[in-house]
Amino acid sequence: MHQQADIGEIHDLLVVGGGINGCGIARDAAGRGLSVQLVEMNDLASATSGGSTKLFHGGLRYLEYFEFRLVREALMERETLLRAMPHISWPMRFVLPYHRDMRFESATPASRLLGAIMPWMRGSRPAWLIRFGLFLYDTLGGRDILPGTKTLDLRNAPEGRALQARFAKAFEYSDCWVDDARLVVLNARDAEENGARIRTRTKVIAARRSRGIWQVELEDTETGARSTLAAKVLVNAAGPWVSDLIQNKIGLNSAEQVRLVRGSHIVTRKLFDHDKCYFFQGEDGRITFAIPYEGDFTLIGTTDQDHADPSVLPECSEEERDYLLNFVNEYLRDPINADDIVWTYSGVRPLYNDGASSATAATRDYTLKLDSRGGAPLLNIFGGKITTYRRLAEAAMDELAPSFPDMGAEWTAGVPLPGGDFAVGDVRALMDQLRSEYAFLTGPWASRLIRAYGTEARDMLGRAQSVAHLGQSFGHTLFAAEVSWLMQHEYARTAEDIVWRRSKLGLRMTHAEVEALNAWMIEHRAVNTAAPAVKRAGGGK
Ligand SMILES: Cc1cc2nc3c(=O)[nH]c(=O)nc-3n(C[C@H](O)[C@H](O)[C@H](O)COP(=O)(O)OP(=O)(O)OC[C@H]3O[C@@H](n4cnc5c(N)ncnc54)[C@H](O)[C@@H]3O)c2cc1C
Repeated sequence: MHQQADIGEIHDLLVVGGGINGCGIARDAAGRGLSVQLVEMNDLASATSGGSTKLFHGGLRYLEYFEFRLVREALMERETLLRAMPHISWPMRFVLPYHRDMRFESATPASRLLGAIMPWMRGSRPAWLIRFGLFLYDTLGGRDILPGTKTLDLRNAPEGRALQARFAKAFEYSDCWVDDARLVVLNARDAEENGARIRTRTKVIAARRSRGIWQVELEDTETGARSTLAAKVLVNAAGPWVSDLIQNKIGLNSAEQVRLVRGSHIVTRKLFDHDKCYFFQGEDGRITFAIPYEGDFTLIGTTDQDHADPSVLPECSEEERDYLLNFVNEYLRDPINADDIVWTYSGVRPLYNDGASSATAATRDYTLKLDSRGGAPLLNIFGGKITTYRRLAEAAMDELAPSFPDMGAEWTAGVPLPGGDFAVGDVRALMDQLRSEYAFLTGPWASRLIRAYGTEARDMLGRAQSVAHLGQSFGHTLFAAEVSWLMQHEYARTAEDIVWRRSKLGLRMTHAEVEALNAWMIEHRAVNTAAPAVKRAGGGK
C-alpha cells in the first residue's frame, strides 16, 4: 500500500516507539499488508519494556481492584503467548504463603467492601477470600496447559525451607515467565519479516499534519543526521514519552494525561533451590515477587513510586532498595541485606491517568485515544501490560480500520515468533538435540541458546564444529559468531544492547569483558549491520 506523491513516499503507518506496544503494533499491521515504519530513539526495549517483572500474568492483585476486563484478557492471553514463544516464555508456579494473623492496610474496592459487610474482617485477607480470588483466577480465562491452584503444607514441602517457620500453609497457582527484552526484539524481527522497516537510534523530533498527511522529522541519534518521513497515520507508542510526543513534538494540547509510576527491582544471589516464584503480601497491602532468575540469582520486585519526568533515568533509590529488602525479610528464614544485591533495575509505567489516589491504585489497563483532527489520524497509546501487548495491537488496528478498509484480518494469535516454532514442553528435547549436533556445547550453554533463539540456535551456530569456529571469545559462552548474529539480525549496536537486553550476560561479565565486547562491535560494525532478510511483504501468515 505504498503511495508516491510530490512530497515523496507516503507510508501507511509510522509507529513511534520500539517498546513492546510499538513493536507489537508494527508486527500486526505489517502482517495485514500495511506499509509500516517504526522508529525507536534508543535501542529496542531500552525503556519500560526491558524493565518489567517479566511475567505473563493475569494480575492476581488487580482482582481486588475489580479490574475484571483486564484480568480476564490477560489470563486468556497467557497460553496464546506461551504457544507462540515457548523458547522465551514458560509456565511458572507461584507460592503464596499464608498466615491467619497477617494484617493489611488496604483501601482496595474489595477490602472496603469486605470491611463494610464484615467489619470484624477489616484489615485482613482471610484464607477463603484468597482461595476465592484464586478460583476466579483459575476459571476466568480458561486453561489448557497451566495447572490450577493447590494448597501446600510448607512444613513438609521444599518451598517451605526458605521461609520462616511461622508459615505453615501456602496456596500455589500458575502464571508464566517471559524474557521481556527478547519479546520486543522478536516482535520487531517478525514485523520486519512481514515487510516493516525498523529503525533504531532514530528519534522523532517534530511531527505536523499537512494536507491530511503526517510530515515527521527524524534525527539519527548516533550521527545527528536529519531526515523526513511521510505517513498517513501516526501511532504514538512512546511509553513514558507519550505526552512528550503529543505536546512537545507535535504541539497539540490534550486532555489525556499519562501517570508515570516507577517500579524498581533488586537482583540478589540465589535465595532458594527450586524453580517456583514467591508471591509475598505486605502489610501496606502491596505485593512483591521473589523469582528464580537466570539460574544463579533471585529477582525481587517491585515498587510503585510516582516519577515526574521521563527524561530522568529511572533508578532504584536507597528507599526502594530498603523497602524491598524489608518486605522479603518478613518472610525469609535467612534475612538478606544490601550486600546480597548484585544488580538493580527500574522501569517507568506509562499509565493512563484515571485520577487514582495512589500510584498502586492507578489502572494498569490500556487506553487508546484516536485524534483525527486535521484528517491525518494520531493514535495515542496509554498503559497496558506486556501480557496484553498482542490484544492491544489488535485493538489499535480496530481503531485504524476506517483509514485502511482493505487491510487484512487479525492473524497473530498463536503464530510463532522467530525461533518459537516448536511445542510448549519440547524445550528439553531441543536442548538435547542441539548438544548432539554441537558436541562442544555444555548443558548451561545449550540451555541459554535454546532459551534465547529456540529453533534458530542452529542458524546462529551454523557449521561450527568446535569453539574455534565461533571466533573471538568474550567470556561466559559469548563468541563472535553470536555477537555477529545479534548485530545482523537483532539490531544490536553496542555491548549494552547485548549484555543487558538480548541476553543478561551482564550479570556475569566484568567491566573489562564488556569493554572488550564493545570495542569489537565498533570495529566490526560495517560488516555486521545487514538488516534481517525480508521474507514477506505483508499479508500475515
Ligand atoms: C516495574 C514494572 C514492572 C512491570 N511488570 C510487568 C509484568 O510482569 N507483566 C506485564 O505484563 N507487564 C508489566 N509491566 C508493564 C509493561 O512493562 C509496560 O506496560 C510495557 O512495557 C509498556 O510498553 P511500551 O511499548 O508502551 O513502552 P516502552 O517500552 O517504554 O517503549 C516506548 C519507547 O518509545 C521510545 N520513544 C519515546 N519517544 C520517542 C521519540 N520521540 N522518538 C522515537 N522513539 C521514542 C522510547 O525510547 C521507548 O523505547 C511492568 C512495568 C513496570 C514499570
